[in-house]
Amino acid sequence: MSKVTIRDVDFSGKKVIIRVDFNVPLDKDGNISDDARIRAALPTIKYVLEKGASKVILMSHLGRPKGKVLDSLRMNPLARRLSSLIGEGVEKVDDCVGQEVKAKIKSTDKRIVLLENLRFHPQEEAGDEGFSKELASLADMYVNDAFGTAHRAHASTTIIAKSLPSSIGFLMEKEVKALSFAVSPEKPYVVILGGAKVSDKIGVISNLMRKADKFIIGGAMAYTFLKSQGIDVGASRVEDDKLDLAKKILDDAGCKGVKICLPIDHLVVDNIDNPGIKAIVETIGQGLMGVDVGTKSIQFFKDELKDAKTVLWNGPLGIFEKEAYARGTKEIAFYLAALVGVNVIVGGGDSASAAKKFGIADKLTHVSTGGGASLEFLEGKELPGIAVIPDK
Ligand code: ADP
Ligand code: MG
Repeated sequence: MSKVTIRDVDFSGKKVIIRVDFNVPLDKDGNISDDARIRAALPTIKYVLEKGASKVILMSHLGRPKGKVLDSLRMNPLARRLSSLIGEGVEKVDDCVGQEVKAKIKSTDKRIVLLENLRFHPQEEAGDEGFSKELASLADMYVNDAFGTAHRAHASTTIIAKSLPSSIGFLMEKEVKALSFAVSPEKPYVVILGGAKVSDKIGVISNLMRKADKFIIGGAMAYTFLKSQGIDVGASRVEDDKLDLAKKILDDAGCKGVKICLPIDHLVVDNIDNPGIKAIVETIGQGLMGVDVGTKSIQFFKDELKDAKTVLWNGPLGIFEKEAYARGTKEIAFYLAALVGVNVIVGGGDSASAAKKFGIADKLTHVSTGGGASLEFLEGKELPGIAVIPDK
């Protein structure tokens, strides 16, 4: 990668505005339930301060206020948590642009300032140039470290870079490095795909079809592939309008010599929330739906992973949110965590949650912090928030 990073920039005496991803989950009382995203931004914040920046001005969105001020989505709890994590005071201001904000940045004796939720202003998501210039006027330099929103051409993620000398932070650099490796991998390369819909993953499949040696497919999307081959899938979740596409992908893989591994048995139920019938079967009966891959499939998938040098995992293999249907996802996750000398990269929001839930995220090469952004990257798209940063 040849983008200018914070390592290439002289920050001494400069006011630096950093787009971070502080879009953390909040519980019903508005408390932060997982501060991983704040922690992930610390190396960049600390580095810029160490390199002599006079002020670090942080900005992020939180939730979906849709252009309105919502007290429940103010950044105050983020300022408190950041302050305790980084061990110094953080000045929280109640807006992100305007004279008062400027005055506060000037008068505060704190080195770190956190702006109010960017999405209180509709101009943020609209990518408004005037708004981006107001943000830019607060600082001398811009750093983008928010990989999770790099696929959006918003004012703070993309447009602002046109007004200030710009670079990417450590988190962004790490994401781009790891995901680039999944696009140009060491072979043999096995891609595990699961999750809800074939349609969500078409871009990833077609881009990686040219690079992968093998696809392992589970989750609901497996049923669209199985049905496209004339296999009865009962009441399993299927995208009927994607059957032709699924068939075409299978044919295409055959022509290219890419192996596609579909489940050979299934955990089926008659009712997801309140199952009367729950069994592992090879043939799915009428009225039953597949909610996880079966025991034989799990073994089959492990065998198919044995010689991999690179593995990309995107999409859970079953409805892992429910303990009773989590086994396939969990066993494959543990298997990946135990591999030695293999690059294992996880993309996709739910897959990352699964890796965290099973406590194995730290054992993998990289778990992306960007759900949608990681998928677009794996589709081979150029992310606007990265594209706008100058090349070295
Ligand atoms: P990611 O966010 O990692 O890209 P997706 O959003 O594509 O993953 O898919 C995740 C969702 O797929 C989960 O909510 C999971 O419950 C669902 N899912 C997985 N397997 C099945 C299945 N057999 N039937 C219905 N839903 C499934
Ligand atoms: Mg998802």
